[in-house]
Amino acid sequence: MTVDYAKVGLKVGLEVHQQLNTATKLFCRCKPELSKKEAEITFTRRLRPTQSELGQIDPAAYFEFQKGVKILYEADRETSCLVEMDEEPPHSLSMEAVEIALTAALMMNATPVDEIHVMRKTVIDGSNTTGFQRTCVIALNGFIKVGEKIIPIQHVSLEEDAARKTGQSGSIIHYRIDRLGIPLLEVATAPVISTPEEAGQVALAIGKILRATGRVKRGIGTIRQDLNISIDGGALVEIKGVQELELIPTVIEYEVQRQLNLIKISEELRNRGIREGEIKEEFIDVTDIFNQTSCKVIRKALEGGMRVFAVKLPRFAGLLKWELMPGTRLGTEMADRAKFWGRVGGIFHTDEMPAYGITLEEIETLRKRVRAGEMDAVVFIADKPENAVDALRAVIERAKEAIKGVPEETRVAKPDGTTSYMRPRPGAARMYPETDIPPIRLPEEYINQLKANLPEMPEEKLKRFISEHHLNEKLAKQLLDSEYSGIFESIIKETKVSSTFVAAFLTETMKSLKREGIPVEKIADDQLLELFRLVDKGEVAKEALPEIVTWLAKNEGKNVYEALGSLGLRMLSREEVEKVIEDIIIKNRKVIDEGKDKAFGFLMGVIMKELRGKADAKLVSNILKSKLNLK
Ligand SMILES: [Zn+2]
Repeated sequence: MTVDYAKVGLKVGLEVHQQLNTATKLFCRCKPELSKKEAEITFTRRLRPTQSELGQIDPAAYFEFQKGVKILYEADRETSCLVEMDEEPPHSLSMEAVEIALTAALMMNATPVDEIHVMRKTVIDGSNTTGFQRTCVIALNGFIKVGEKIIPIQHVSLEEDAARKTGQSGSIIHYRIDRLGIPLLEVATAPVISTPEEAGQVALAIGKILRATGRVKRGIGTIRQDLNISIDGGALVEIKGVQELELIPTVIEYEVQRQLNLIKISEELRNRGIREGEIKEEFIDVTDIFNQTSCKVIRKALEGGMRVFAVKLPRFAGLLKWELMPGTRLGTEMADRAKFWGRVGGIFHTDEMPAYGITLEEIETLRKRVRAGEMDAVVFIADKPENAVDALRAVIERAKEAIKGVPEETRVAKPDGTTSYMRPRPGAARMYPETDIPPIRLPEEYINQLKANLPEMPEEKLKRFISEHHLNEKLAKQLLDSEYSGIFESIIKETKVSSTFVAAFLTETMKSLKREGIPVEKIADDQLLELFRLVDKGEVAKEALPEIVTWLAKNEGKNVYEALGSLGLRMLSREEVEKVIEDIIIKNRKVIDEGKDKAFGFLMGVIMKELRGKADAKLVSNILKSKLNLK
């Protein structure tokens, strides 16, 4: 589907969240790192709705509370203390994080606030032990230039990262609190982005500026983008957690496609003359229809004492199977809501029948029982009556919204760029002051000093990479777009390895390894530096680098020397190389007798096959030439 994005009135705002590379967490002095160890401490909490000082209960918080969820927190002493466990008030704000945030903000032409006020933002999913997230605005009203366009930066903020979800068993959610409190920089643009490609370019430009500070973390999960997307006649939909930059345009294309289809469905429903009031919460127990069913899911539910409840959606026939974006139909959206609000595994509906072992006869009886005609759809659910009714109520709610068009909601991005329902959009009553931390004044002299010492901007760096390191423009650009421009400069400074080789390895080779499914983001900067030092000393062959990097990516926590040992990649001494060459010469006497010049190329091939990664090709060539008495 080709879409004229100007015509549909696409507006996108970006929120970039970037973990900072600081010595400590934001409000305590724990290491800001994810633990690879087993948890040493666990404790549980119940979710409770937080009442803000304005006396309003956040509707989203309230509903999530109704799910009756318990949280199990996992911790270890190295990455968390009493602050993360909410047993102790927060310590002072990390001024190192403030400085990085201010630096980035000034590079984006934003105006620092006079005083930093730490606020509490209600969180309702248990991802913070306190029930809120601490956040503070650092600077306001900046802008960046992307191509010829000015993109306003509404604010640059500092916040604590949330705990990370490690699993769920029944109604107990598991969170590891090592990530909780890691300093996170938030950059929010105005909703002025008008095409999917432009959103990708803006995210890349912001990412480059953040990396230009030289003080941000890199690797998967260290940068996350949220998107606010709307079109004319649609609604504002917030999409959370896009981790791959390349995915941003796809996420937007799919969301526009989804909203356009929802608008078409709403037009169709209005053409069919259906009104909201006609969709009624009449939930009918139809268990007996399925007493003899060959549908495994329903049979198993009935054996477990559950019931089947059904509801009629008047004049919805055919619309539930309407595809909104790949793999997502209106029926899928109803199922997502049912799962969320009703804690059920899924729904059945007549647009997909007969299927799953449910017969035409059962469906005919079901239609009669709920008095559904040919133009009506029927949704039914097998579960505990209480859950089934909550779930059907959510289905009714979603059906009513379908008449209006696109519902405002928060969705979560999936790795293929499609999205699924996460929760309703939170209400406005979400922020209130953090009384444990006094406001922090930012003196003008301090700001001026930072301003006078800002890091090099990406475009200046590009010019310098070309003039100073003799990279061609394409390679220099690729390097700046990658996460490796910082480590590139360290390698160039410390070794004599060719800058073009280093740059090509950090961009093209790393990218192609990633494409093959190697998790290259797990390679730490100091490992890369160590590898190139060894290349420089002639102890590792350039050709062996992809193999070593692959091994390191698959063996987290191991070092470069363990990689070399395990791969048998120790470089051979000159004597050892000579011995291998002599052996091969003896075995190939016949070829040499036919002509030394011709034999040289053939023997090089045979020898390098044996010595690849263990000896330098140039060394081999020199030894072979002298053994063959060639010049
Ligand atoms: Zn701590």
